[in-house]
Amino acid sequence: MSEAVPKKRLNPQRVVVREEDPRDRRGSFAEALHPYTRDEAIAEARRCIQCGKPWCMEACPISQDARTYLKLIAGGDFDAARDVILRDNPLADCLGRVCYHYCEAACPVRKRGEPIAIRHLKRAALDYATSAAPYPAGPATGQRVAVIGGGPAGLMAAWILAQRGHAVTVFEATNRLGGLMTGTIPGYRLPDEVFARDMERFASLPIEFRILTRFPRDLDLDRLLSEYDAVFVGLGTHKSKRLGIPGENLDGVLTALRFLAETKAGLRSSIRPRVVVIGGGDVAMDSARSALRLGAEEVTIVYRRSREEMPADDQEIREAMDEGARFEFLSAPKRFLGIRRLEGIELQQMNLGPPDESGRRKPVPLDVPPTMMRCDAAIVAVSQEADLDGIPLDLGIRLGKDGTLEADPTTGATARNGVYAGGGGSVVHAMAAAKRAALAIDAFLVERRTRVT
Ligand SMILES: Cc1cc2nc3c(=O)[nH]c(=O)nc-3n(C[C@H](O)[C@H](O)[C@H](O)COP(=O)(O)OP(=O)(O)OC[C@H]3O[C@@H](n4cnc5c(N)ncnc54)[C@H](O)[C@@H]3O)c2cc1C
Repeated sequence: MSEAVPKKRLNPQRVVVREEDPRDRRGSFAEALHPYTRDEAIAEARRCIQCGKPWCMEACPISQDARTYLKLIAGGDFDAARDVILRDNPLADCLGRVCYHYCEAACPVRKRGEPIAIRHLKRAALDYATSAAPYPAGPATGQRVAVIGGGPAGLMAAWILAQRGHAVTVFEATNRLGGLMTGTIPGYRLPDEVFARDMERFASLPIEFRILTRFPRDLDLDRLLSEYDAVFVGLGTHKSKRLGIPGENLDGVLTALRFLAETKAGLRSSIRPRVVVIGGGDVAMDSARSALRLGAEEVTIVYRRSREEMPADDQEIREAMDEGARFEFLSAPKRFLGIRRLEGIELQQMNLGPPDESGRRKPVPLDVPPTMMRCDAAIVAVSQEADLDGIPLDLGIRLGKDGTLEADPTTGATARNGVYAGGGGSVVHAMAAAKRAALAIDAFLVERRTRVT
């Protein structure tokens, strides 16, 4: 039962999200942000001014109705809030921790103070609601869909299609589901059990998961199209870009994806003492913060632009600083130094010129001699892209600007009838691309069915 919500007066100050002490965080991969208590969640949700136009929902790539669930939390009805969230979002427990919260950027309260903590309230809604029943499957259509890739995109596509009664098989190359989200985002931001909670709700859906099955090596497209009525391809971005500078093959130079995947899988329990991380995005922040947790004595993040141009989330940058990471701005790696084993890195000081095609000011080298920084490990976190190796060319799948798979922007349709593709640079964007494709696949299957009957 919902309690009466008192009349609104804009409160510009957010109910504080408590954090583990940064000194304790360094030694542990335990979750760093503490949940709101029930009362704190209600108090924070009551700050929402319930705008006439749902700016938060419009900013959300999967159109989560935050305005409605905030109202329900404000009234203490966590079960109803949970239902609104789960209606559009099968990975809500995860997104309550790692979403880039585009809704908060659009929240008008931001103009007068801190935006409503919508992401943290999503987490609270699921924490304080009773656990949800598994999703019901729709009446069976007799049609089958193959989904390649068990990351957020593949899971979103499978969730939508299974609820519409299609039998789905998810083919995943590795031995686990969740893609980069579960495989690389460190446990202090996303513990494994959170994803497990999201997956429990999939239990009643007609989805078969086949792990350790790589496309097209283990199953090619012709075979898939002979066994399934449609195919969705959601491969993610698993190819790390290289810097292309001398010394990149030295022992001690690692790619961020490999370093983070090994750390998350528990295959790495230490790192050499002096670590340099190259890059300015969230992957760089995760690498630096993980290196500190693995016992590095000194971690320096080298970024070629200034703090203002850093693409990483502000909160991630602040948390990395609090934990002791140093930042070397306007600095670009020129070469790695050492014989077989990394001993240092040569850095070129940069300045900022006019904006480039990304809209950010372009870094240009200053006419000064390079400097040398000693280090024993370097983690390259400059960017990653989809690995199209082996993907049939006749699908016409391209790499988008952010390195993700791109096909038809509104439907995800590829050049082959019945084959769709998509992904995104964030969890929620990958899910949004998969949603567009899954709705198009469903329409394609309905049309096929009606043609046959
Ligand atoms: C370190 C790090 C931190 C991040 N932090 C955040 C964050 O805080 N918030 C956020 O929103 N986003 C974050 N992201 C981005 C986010 O993880 C991705 O955008 C999202 O996972 C993309 O989903 P996807 O399903 O398209 O791809 P993926 O998550 O990569 O999943 C694709 C899946 O397909 C499988 N696969 C690949 N090729 C094949 C094949 N040939 N055959 C079969 N299976 C295959 C892969 O093994 C994988 O499981 C982060 C990424 C990294 C690397």
